Amino acid sequence: MTAPASQWSVRTILLWLLLASLLPGVIGASLLFIHQYQQGRAQQERDKVRTARALLQAVDSHLLRVQSVGEVLASADSMTAGNLAQFHERAQKAVRTSELTANVVLRDESEQLVLNALVPFGQPLPRQPSREHVRQVFSTGKPAISDLYRVPQFAEPIISVDVPVFVGQRVAYSLGISVFPKQLNTILATQKLPPGWVAAVLDSSGTIVGRNITPEKFVGTKASSPLLHALKQRSEDSIESVSKEGIPVQTAYSRSPATGWTVSIGIPRQELREEMLRSLARLAAGIAALFAIGLALAWFMGGRLARSVTALTIPATALGKGEPVRVPRVYLKEAAEVGAALEHASDLLRQRAAALAARERDLAQAHTRLRDVIDSSPALIYLKDLQGRFLLVNKTYERMLGSERTKARTGDGSLPRVLHEQPPSAADKQVLQSGGVVQFEERIDTAEGLKYFAVSKAPLRDHEGRMIGICAAAVDVTSLKEAEAQIRELVATLENRVEKRTEELRVANAQLHQVNARLQEANGQLEAFSYTVAHDLRAPLRGIQGFADALQEDYESTLDETGQDYLQRISKAAGRMEQLIADLLAFSRLSRMELVSGPVSLAEVFRNVLTNLEAQIRESNAQISVAPDLPFVWANSTACLQVFQNLVSNAMKFSRRDVPLSVRIWTEPRTIEQTGARLVRVWVEDNGIGIPPAQQQRIFKPFERLHGMSEYPGSGIGLAIVNVATRRMQGHCGVESEVNVGSRFWVELPAMRTEG
Ligand code: ADP
Repeated sequence: MTAPASQWSVRTILLWLLLASLLPGVIGASLLFIHQYQQGRAQQERDKVRTARALLQAVDSHLLRVQSVGEVLASADSMTAGNLAQFHERAQKAVRTSELTANVVLRDESEQLVLNALVPFGQPLPRQPSREHVRQVFSTGKPAISDLYRVPQFAEPIISVDVPVFVGQRVAYSLGISVFPKQLNTILATQKLPPGWVAAVLDSSGTIVGRNITPEKFVGTKASSPLLHALKQRSEDSIESVSKEGIPVQTAYSRSPATGWTVSIGIPRQELREEMLRSLARLAAGIAALFAIGLALAWFMGGRLARSVTALTIPATALGKGEPVRVPRVYLKEAAEVGAALEHASDLLRQRAAALAARERDLAQAHTRLRDVIDSSPALIYLKDLQGRFLLVNKTYERMLGSERTKARTGDGSLPRVLHEQPPSAADKQVLQSGGVVQFEERIDTAEGLKYFAVSKAPLRDHEGRMIGICAAAVDVTSLKEAEAQIRELVATLENRVEKRTEELRVANAQLHQVNARLQEANGQLEAFSYTVAHDLRAPLRGIQGFADALQEDYESTLDETGQDYLQRISKAAGRMEQLIADLLAFSRLSRMELVSGPVSLAEVFRNVLTNLEAQIRESNAQISVAPDLPFVWANSTACLQVFQNLVSNAMKFSRRDVPLSVRIWTEPRTIEQTGARLVRVWVEDNGIGIPPAQQQRIFKPFERLHGMSEYPGSGIGLAIVNVATRRMQGHCGVESEVNVGSRFWVELPAMRTEG
């Protein structure tokens, strides 16, 4: 990754920082410099004016000295005595001895020369022009100084310092001491002004009286016009002008209030500018030096910073590679903190990497499991991207549509060959448009033949919920389809059959009704017939028995042995017939009579049974045990007596000769699971001959007997009565028996209703 152009190095930033922090200082310094410069300039001008003033004082004191010489002369005795000749001598002496004095003259009130030290005394003196300063002396009585003027005696112009000479109280004369201006030049020269500076002494009219440079050339000429103009305005100032040599100068001047004279000093402006430039240059050099030091420091510190920062790239790279992070020595506190943070981050990253590795393992395991689940699914499962390319197919898919799998691998993108129904592209589009699940059926030509599939397609989404493809599962429903078809077929045939059977049933029912009606009729007739037969049979039978008894009584002695035997047989057969008819009548009665149920005490019933069978019990020597506390049942007491009497009687009848006869009677409660109905099961158990299993059902039918009449007499009706009676009382009966061990007959009757 390359750094964008806008990224700056630490050094660059520091340099800019330095510039930014120095810039206000530089601007301030420059402004200060300008201010200082202007101040300096003003100060300089004031200094120059002061210098001019000092020079002026020197000039003034020089003139005062001249004036004092004059005053000394004026007060000389000779003068006061009016001895002019003597005074002349004195004046001559003064001219000769004093450097200051070029000449001494004396004028009277009319300004006429009365004495000239350079002219012998008494020689007539020429008339001279009137002089202002002379008039001033006479009018004011005070000393006065002339401007520069020429006199014939000297080649060069002179100035004159005049003092009054009093005679009494009156100014009698004006004593003038002539002075050469070059004395002023000397004064100027002794001031040791810097080279190039032009100092000049001007008289009250602005004429140059003395000059430090080339006085011979300019003494006697007028000062420059700007200076003359300024002199009229102010007594002291500094102005810009041009020197006599034509050099632009700054001129400072000061005019003496005492003499009206002026001293001016011209300083070339070039020099001032150079001075300023030198100051500027010094300042610039100072700033540059500061900059240079700052830059060097910034460069040095920037280097340290940059090294501290770049030093972190090594641990950062190590962090990126997942290697152990070692932070080198850095100078920057923040960099050290970043380094520490990098080390901490490295620790965290290591922990996270470990956690990630564990999660990856879990994910891989989960993926494998998921893949196993997908592959082990009997459904065809596949994923497609938005372009229809297969992303995943499971093993079932591969097995059934192997060739398509190859296409999937090559990214051919074609779909399994769909023979009809909804085209998959339409289904795919529907899924993508609706974003919901689309279900349909397809018939697909697979490696295992044509098969029906229930296909379910749903959108495949990424973790942000965007659709990225389609997820499909196709379940083989061929067998279901076939079963469905078979069921449909069966339903159709069943319906036909049901219709047919219903019709047949209807017909049969109608026939049954007819038959039933006929049967009831026949039954009625039969019952009437059997009753009639039994009844009607009894009369002749009694006749037979009566006559047999009569034969026995009356003709016993006349009958031989064979006749006797026949007669007994007739009698026995008639007895059996009698019993049979009685049993038949009882059975018939039971079948026909209405059986009203109610509470029946079994204890009571068995008491009656034992009483009725007392003779038989005694005869068979039977041991009969009846359980105590026999319950009540919901039944008919007459039928109950008949049922249990038959069972106890049979138990005693079908006994074994070799074992003592024992009969046991007890009950147990029963519940029918389906209906919840409660019953009482009554057991009658004997230790008799028993009944073979094959015969145990038969014996409950009428006239079914297992033994010969001679062995065990009976009619074969007893158990039939038991069966019919229990059924008519909503009960059941049955037997459990083993040959030569005994039989256990049971009868179930509804329990007492009030009990529950
Ligand atoms: P009968 O007793 O008049 O012969 P039943 O209808 O009472 O007629 O009995 C039918 C047959 O069932 C009997 O002939 C007998 O063979 C058999 N039987 C009935 N009770 C018993 C019993 N307690 N032990 C063995 N056999 C029996």
